[in-house]
Amino acid sequence: MAFRTLDDADVKGQRVLVRVDFNVPMQGGRISDDTRLRAALPTINDLRGRGAKVILLSHFGRPKGERIANMSLAPVAPVLADLLGASVGFAADCVGDAAQAAVAAMAPGDVLLLENTRFHSGETTNDPTLARAMADLGDLFVLDAFSSAHRAHASTVGIAQYLPAFAGRAMQRELEHLEKALGKPQHPVLAVVGGAKVSSKIDLLQNLVARVDILCIGGGMANTFLHALGKPVGASLCEKDLADTAGTIMTSAVRNDCEILLPVDVVVAQEFVANAAHQTVGLDHVGEKDMILDAGPASVAALNAAMDRAKTVIWNGPLGAFELPPFDAATRAAARHCAQLTRAGKLVSVAGGGDTVSALNQAGVSNDFTFISTAGGAFLEWMEGKALPGVEALKSD
Ligand code: AMP
Repeated sequence: MAFRTLDDADVKGQRVLVRVDFNVPMQGGRISDDTRLRAALPTINDLRGRGAKVILLSHFGRPKGERIANMSLAPVAPVLADLLGASVGFAADCVGDAAQAAVAAMAPGDVLLLENTRFHSGETTNDPTLARAMADLGDLFVLDAFSSAHRAHASTVGIAQYLPAFAGRAMQRELEHLEKALGKPQHPVLAVVGGAKVSSKIDLLQNLVARVDILCIGGGMANTFLHALGKPVGASLCEKDLADTAGTIMTSAVRNDCEILLPVDVVVAQEFVANAAHQTVGLDHVGEKDMILDAGPASVAALNAAMDRAKTVIWNGPLGAFELPPFDAATRAAARHCAQLTRAGKLVSVAGGGDTVSALNQAGVSNDFTFISTAGGAFLEWMEGKALPGVEALKSD
């Protein structure tokens, strides 16, 4: 996948519009987690260091085209300034007089944050007038928000119609790792897919069986597959109406020479609470009142052995109800094994999407995976094999 990066851009003295993702968690008007601000620093520093005027664009929350005071990006500017060690200007709109005047006053190396793009309804409809008005503020466009790349919005792909577009450093890093995991990976590739429901991951499973060598299905979604194979699932989370879909996915796996790993033993409880009385049972011994809440040790051993054979692991979703100990045991044990193999240089491991990041954080292994994507929807759509409009806009011809 060839795409334009900052290395291809001559930015000296240029006004560079940078689409970041500053949709940060806020509590009582204060930023409670600045990860997303930190993620943008390499691009901002790179551009400043090369004498660009850096103009930052982001959405924040879902104001649906209204100016909503507690969805203003104003509180972000001073926090970003502290992280950068440089002042950050703020304009109270992302287009119009306020934005134009603030941009006109910039010197090379300056940083300016524009107000929430979603204060304009044209942002989410990718209105060309809004995109054009934003594009008029810059000479070049940099997309550095992979987490927003699955949305064709005015500030993600709209602007790229009017200005030369480049991937920022965070975007570049993300794309390079994703390419290594699923684009041109080292085989065998093992995909681990867990989480609650098959219904939210049908496209993902269908894409994966055609592309990976081993697919491990865990979490609540495995119950639907076990049910389709005629195993009792008792009172477990199970989408019985999707038994045929599960069957189709398993048939497609056989056709594509993809080995499917399902649990061979499970941990059951009769209450969905932390520390509920529980036991490990074989697949034929799940009682009517039992809920399958985790994979058992034999299943984890089989998954770990598959990791030993693999050169690439791509992971989305927990193997059990990981928020409720001890039903986090399988996720923890498998994640630790994956981390060990990665540390030993035997494996490229890429994880992301939804609850996966918190499950891996909880297992204490996040730093040992090759790459963990914090992009939820965009990561899943990429795993589903869909073209992300924001990425398409950066492809070099
Ligand atoms: P997802 O957002 O699809 O990745 O699903 C994550 C959620 O699936 C977490 O909240 C887990 O608690 C839940 N989950 C995983 N395994 C099970 C299970 N066996 N029964 C019920 N919930 C589960």
